[in-house]
Amino acid sequence: MIVKLLGTGDSTGTPVINCHCKTCEDARRRGWERKRFSVLVKNNGKVILIDTSPDLRRQLLDNKIERVDAVIWTHCHFDHFGGFGEFYRVQDDVVVYTTPQIHEDIEKYMRFLEYKPVEVEEYKPFKIAGIEFTLFKVNHPPVEAVGVMMTWNGYKVVISGDTNREIPSRSLAEIMNPDLFIVEALAPSGKFRKHMNAKEALELSKVINAKKVVLTHLGHFFPPHSIASKLYPVGYDYQEFSFKEVKLDEFFRN
Ligand SMILES: [Zn+2]
Ligand SMILES: [Zn+2]
Ligand SMILES: [Zn+2]
Repeated sequence: MIVKLLGTGDSTGTPVINCHCKTCEDARRRGWERKRFSVLVKNNGKVILIDTSPDLRRQLLDNKIERVDAVIWTHCHFDHFGGFGEFYRVQDDVVVYTTPQIHEDIEKYMRFLEYKPVEVEEYKPFKIAGIEFTLFKVNHPPVEAVGVMMTWNGYKVVISGDTNREIPSRSLAEIMNPDLFIVEALAPSGKFRKHMNAKEALELSKVINAKKVVLTHLGHFFPPHSIASKLYPVGYDYQEFSFKEVKLDEFFRN
């Protein structure tokens, strides 16, 4: 199983259009960026996308993905589903898994795009490509939002989705002891109604006893990547984690 971060940016991405802060200028000068959020999961020759980033076309071309077998949406914000339009005239049988409420929220924007909706309930596992997925409730007011847990060959990978620190206790119980925790952190510090900062994300990682942590959904509030990566376990676009059939302690390369 391979898990790859296709986009580690927040809703605007980095650099932000018309922003000339130190981080955005560094990104332009050195040619790095943070695309909008999507996670690619590959197993048994199948491709699953967690969220469809507005940068999806570039992400699929760069990673030579020619067909997507399933999509899972975490919530109805543009930076998480907007790229679904990239399937237009490319692939017309995309199967999308999410909760009934999130389907309803996103369907409003999908009038001329066809897809196959599959409704799944929080905390009820379902299988795609030999991986067991479970959606769990998070807290991202005012919309309904879920995180995604994957188990495969004894490994557990948890993706927080967009959330503040007030994650329901049932969810915390479900996501304990992950091998890899991909967790959102909008900024190094500061209080946000819908999101966590890096301090909160790292504290949460300790609470759930995560073996390896990678921060994602990062805004331009972080220092330039070369500096941020020395201070925090920040992810980067196209960072890949590969899991071997036989569970090893050092499972990943990145
Ligand atoms: Zn977001
Ligand atoms: Zn900026
Ligand atoms: Zn959001």
